[in-house]
Amino acid sequence: TKSSIGHTVCFFEPDMDENARARRQLAADLRHAVPNGELRLLYQPQRSLMTGRVSGYEALVRWHHPKRGPISPNDFIPLAEETGDIFAIGEWVLREACLEARNWDTPLKVAVNLSPVQFLQQELIERFRAILVETGLSPSRLELEITETAIITDKLRALHCLRQFKAMGVSVAIDDFGTGHSSLDTLHSFPFDKIKIDKSFLQRAETSPQALAIIRTVLSLGRSLSVPVLAEGVENENQLRMLESEGCDEAQGYYFGRPGPAPSLDLPLAANF
Ligand code: C2E
Ligand code: CA
Ligand code: CA
Ligand code: CA
Repeated sequence: TKSSIGHTVCFFEPDMDENARARRQLAADLRHAVPNGELRLLYQPQRSLMTGRVSGYEALVRWHHPKRGPISPNDFIPLAEETGDIFAIGEWVLREACLEARNWDTPLKVAVNLSPVQFLQQELIERFRAILVETGLSPSRLELEITETAIITDKLRALHCLRQFKAMGVSVAIDDFGTGHSSLDTLHSFPFDKIKIDKSFLQRAETSPQALAIIRTVLSLGRSLSVPVLAEGVENENQLRMLESEGCDEAQGYYFGRPGPAPSLDLPLAANF
């Protein structure tokens, strides 16, 4: 009824105002995050299940807000995508990851996340090329992670960018795989070097036969396309054993290591590895 709608509006309005204000404030603060040096990268190891060795690290951004402390990328990346700050943040992330990776004792790959909004930048390829040259990181050590959803939003633009990255010698991983709806045809026509199964499937695999079936399907897809598959979100030994027995190529998750300040390349292997 009208009165209950009126009541509801009345009840939520102050709250929504409060939220909108907080969001506007955060957006204003975000503008200064890069120039003020408030961003940091953490690195999470990715392990080969064949050799048990670390094969690379994924760079994950953190915002150390001067008043609010650390803010998760899940909370500020979407905001940065709305305000356009994602372009400056994306370039900062790439530059920082390249500079840091240059100083690792072992020339492992560094994986950097690319926002779908970054594809909108016409100069994306040129800017990335310039950052690689400026930092001196070999392009073969860089892997860009692009979500399945980003690819299907504008297939032609995504395909164009991926081909340019590949031509530069950069590799490309498809992130959060299974959460979008890419067709086999799309997958086949895109030049991927790795498929990352979204962690939600592994989290449900023990209780959901469907989730397990999806993992098996993605693994067999990887085999038929000759593209290695990495499972995200490995938190325990059971999950690791299952992935090994299903023939998964690589894995990443808290069981092998949380995102940390700097990669220590002599990490002891997980106890029962
Ligand atoms: P993502 O790319 O899927 O990254 C994996 C997320 O899962 C990370 O969260 C990581 O800390 C978390 N994670 C890793 N292992 C486990 C595990 O075993 N269990 C569980 N429950 N979680 C695990 P984080 O660092 O909070 O990042 C969240 C998302 O923010 C990322 O998801 C990515 O989409 C985005 N993001 C992070 N850094 C960047 C960046 O530099 N640029 C862009 N555009 N997006 C970024
Ligand atoms: Ca990622
Ligand atoms: Ca992911
Ligand atoms: Ca994700």
